[in-house]
Amino acid sequence: MSAVNTIPPSNEGPERILIVDDDEARRRLFRTFLSKSGFDVGELPSGEGLLETANAQRPDLILMDIMLPGRTGIELTREVRRDPDLGRTPIILMTAALDDENSIVNGLACGADDYVVTPIGLAELKARIRVQLRNQRDRQLLRWAFEQRRQFKDESRRDPLTGVSNRRAGEEALQDALARREPVAVALLDLDHFKRINDTYGHPAGDAVLVAVAGALEGAVRGDDMIARFGGEEFAVVAPSTTLEAAAELAERLRERVARLTFPSETAIPSVTVSIGVTAWHGFGEPPEPAALIAEADRALYDAKEGGRDRVVVAQPAPLPE
Ligand code: GH3
Ligand code: MG
Ligand code: MG
Repeated sequence: MSAVNTIPPSNEGPERILIVDDDEARRRLFRTFLSKSGFDVGELPSGEGLLETANAQRPDLILMDIMLPGRTGIELTREVRRDPDLGRTPIILMTAALDDENSIVNGLACGADDYVVTPIGLAELKARIRVQLRNQRDRQLLRWAFEQRRQFKDESRRDPLTGVSNRRAGEEALQDALARREPVAVALLDLDHFKRINDTYGHPAGDAVLVAVAGALEGAVRGDDMIARFGGEEFAVVAPSTTLEAAAELAERLRERVARLTFPSETAIPSVTVSIGVTAWHGFGEPPEPAALIAEADRALYDAKEGGRDRVVVAQPAPLPE
């Protein structure tokens, strides 16, 4: 299982700017200046083909005239914002001093990040571009940090060997179901004589068996049910909205699935069996503590071991409240 990548993303090479402007003299002036300033500059004389060009060039910023032949910069800004890949590109609109205030307001309202009034000092233009690139970088880092947090959270709830949930996630699922006062069943499964597998075929073979068992369990339960690895060779199934009778049938199905597992002949690993203890809370009255329910399942599991292994033992049904 891959670890979370903790290195923040970095942009390599010069930042790319796409100038969209029908005024050829101004376009050339800005292009020359921005190129000298170290940017990689692309240009378009109109909005024609903007999305295609931008998708090909992937600019870090678009500098666009509001007044363009055919389409306005405002319409084009809207289009860029709707594009799934370009949508977050910073856009600076250019307006002539004579344009009315409305176009500036509309431009910002429909998604532009800034506007500049031309003619503009080149140093100011560069400073404004830098601000947008800085903001963009901060937003990227924030998105990256959110994604990383999501991955860490996911990893903290997963068993690295088998990929199923870990004990923390399993107990949380049980706790949540009880807090919602929903009926919930718990089955605890423990591999029988698993130590022998390790002793005879080696620890890696034991690991492979655990992975196979986890896969078999996952393939045999409903989407709402959670398989969690509770300890070394012990798994739990937390099954919301499940009665004790249904859970007993489920456990029997799981026992059979595991017993039917086969391993590649070259490994020589024989079939394995599990013992299972099952309990459930009926959903009436005060819910029990999660630990109490787990302890009940554990006692039933102990009885299954005592009774000869490779079997399911169902706990006494909890009495209904008065
Ligand atoms: P029983 O039927 O009574 O449960 O017998 P058992 O041998 O399964 O139980 P015991 O508790 O004596 O041994 C459990 C073994 O599980 C011991 C340990 O080496 C093995 N085990 C625990 N975690 C892992 C693991 O992550 N990988 C492997 N390969 N083995 C593990
Ligand atoms: Mg065991
Ligand atoms: Mg054990």
